[in-house]
Amino acid sequence: MEFNLETIRQDVIQCTKCDLCKTRTNSVPGKGNFDSDVIFVGEAPGRNEDSKGEPFVGVAGKKLSLALENVGISRDEVYITNTVKCRPPKNRVPSTIERETCQEYLQKEIEIIQPKIICVLGNTAFGSILGGTEITKFRGKVGRKGKQLYFITIHPAATIYNQELIKVLKEDIKKLFELIRELKNGKQISIDIEFSS
Ligand code: URA
Ligand code: SF4
Repeated sequence: MEFNLETIRQDVIQCTKCDLCKTRTNSVPGKGNFDSDVIFVGEAPGRNEDSKGEPFVGVAGKKLSLALENVGISRDEVYITNTVKCRPPKNRVPSTIERETCQEYLQKEIEIIQPKIICVLGNTAFGSILGGTEITKFRGKVGRKGKQLYFITIHPAATIYNQELIKVLKEDIKKLFELIRELKNGKQISIDIEFSS
């Protein structure tokens, strides 16, 4: 199991499948607990992530850590990754072709880890993974596509200059871990949205 994720990691580090490989400093493979109940999926690496080769290590990452610590969870306990593994120049939103080319890595991460739920962080991940838009309308909700459950919330970067949104992120993450506890206890949780697979 760990061997496979290590293989994906190496593949991502060496990947030249899309043009983002030309401008990146480092690819940013997913990181964290391979047995996690939840995978957090962001948009794409930013400047700090590009220089360190690790996801969510900049200011947005601090916000995510804060929301996790608020419910007694450390980053090492969960698995964190992105829809696209290399930084788009000037942090532009990754293009459709970049997202499509990179998605096989995320799919493999999900296949191996088999999380109880996937936490979708912000509009780009929401669009790429579930075809959704308007994150502010759907945040805090539980989705299902095929057999996989998803929890939708805002991107931690959105909370940087907005105190109201940090509260929202914290509330959502709290709800997420309550749902995870229920899932682990074998309880049925209610699904807000069915996405077609
Ligand atoms: N924003 C993201 O979407 N991903 C990161 O890894 C860092 C910032
Ligand atoms: Fe490969 Fe993804 Fe990086 Fe493109 S963004 S080079 S597909 S790892």
